Amino acid sequence: MHVRNVSMKSVRLVSQTMSTSVYLETFGCQMNVADSERADVRLRAAGFDLSTSPEDADVILFNTCSVRERAAHKVFTRIGEVRRQRIGSEPVVGVMGCVAQLEGDSIFDASPLVNIVAGTRATDRLPQLISRALQGERRVLDLDERAEGEVWDVPASDRTSKHVAFVPIIEGCNKFCTYCIVPYSRGREKSRLASDIVAEIHALRSYGYKEIHLIGQNVNSYRPKTDDGLEGFKGATPFCRLLRAVAATGMERIKFTTSFPRDFHPDIVAAIDENENLCEWIHLPVQSGSDRILRAMRRGHTAGDYLKRIDAVKNARRKMSITSDIIVGFPGETREDFGKTVKLVEQVGYDGLYIFKYSERRGTPAAKLDDDVSREEKAARFAQLEEAQRKLQQKIYDRYVGRVLDVLVERPSSKSERDMTGHSTCHKVVNFPGDVSMLGKVKSVRVTAAKQNSLYGEIISAP
Ligand code: SF4
Repeated sequence: MHVRNVSMKSVRLVSQTMSTSVYLETFGCQMNVADSERADVRLRAAGFDLSTSPEDADVILFNTCSVRERAAHKVFTRIGEVRRQRIGSEPVVGVMGCVAQLEGDSIFDASPLVNIVAGTRATDRLPQLISRALQGERRVLDLDERAEGEVWDVPASDRTSKHVAFVPIIEGCNKFCTYCIVPYSRGREKSRLASDIVAEIHALRSYGYKEIHLIGQNVNSYRPKTDDGLEGFKGATPFCRLLRAVAATGMERIKFTTSFPRDFHPDIVAAIDENENLCEWIHLPVQSGSDRILRAMRRGHTAGDYLKRIDAVKNARRKMSITSDIIVGFPGETREDFGKTVKLVEQVGYDGLYIFKYSERRGTPAAKLDDDVSREEKAARFAQLEEAQRKLQQKIYDRYVGRVLDVLVERPSSKSERDMTGHSTCHKVVNFPGDVSMLGKVKSVRVTAAKQNSLYGEIISAP
């Protein structure tokens, strides 16, 4: 699992036929962002319309993240804030997503303001759930599975993200790492048909999208029920065949995240080597460098197994960027175990690393273990690993100075009015002087300076 806090995204919907406005706020990972985008489309199709803020909306929805206990609490804090803003009015309030799926109807008792609890598979039924609440039903609960044959795709013209499109290919997880709540909140792995994925990507390309991200908790565990859309494509696993099928759409830039080490077949690397439009970036979480801790985490691989996968990536024809996730301070992690993690990080030489301090997640097997690494020790290990990574990463980034990268221009820089920002095919953040007329275009940028987490450069292609 790879979880990054994405900036809170607000989607505003106002009904034209019913004059009902819906405001949707999203917490969590790309899967939640993709679900909100889909909820947005389904609600608009049902006649709901845009609203700009929770202050004037008839319906307020929170799409929630439960990966950390603190993230789950955040939504209740937000509901409290909304309650204070809306004294004297009674909006319909809904909790959807992972917290809803896990906590179920107990949310109604925890927060009497909430009228709707909609689990992770209820996105397409939101219009009906909201209608029931608007008709006076006090507690509307839906934790059911997706309907058979449910359509996953989001029309290109209705997407809220204009330059990079997230395309879910699999949801749920069967791995049950001991610290992780996802298999409980998102359910078992369910893969989309390749023919649907390919059709969606063709539509996105025709509409003008230059980059798509195939997303899922573990994309390389992709295993659809049938071969639809994969006929004629070679590959050691269904995911390798899917990569080649997606590459054949001609989409300019294709990225995928997250990969799971045990299911990471070297043929993935071969597919990237063969197809220039498969971007040279691999996110492969390892979590720990200690076999003892990996066993306690029930990851199903050793550090040695992981390093073999990394060797395959490093031996590729194309130079690939590698990023990872690490948890420090897992129950029972000794200084020696932690030292093995630092060693592995130094050995791999990651282009980027997401480091997390272990925190107990209620409902997971690890929560039953003694959380015996003190808060101070976790902080010290975090700082030590961060510092080691900072030094390694600076060296890696410095090597980019003088190189030319193709950058998709995504937004104005938040740091400088004269700069635009985007990502390279190797998924580096690149800033450069520019203006909004460049948005959505791919520009060749010569790198002139390297910071720790971003590069700076100048456009060399004609505007
Ligand atoms: S259980 Fe493991 S593999 Fe599955 S989402 Fe959680 S961390 Fe990732």
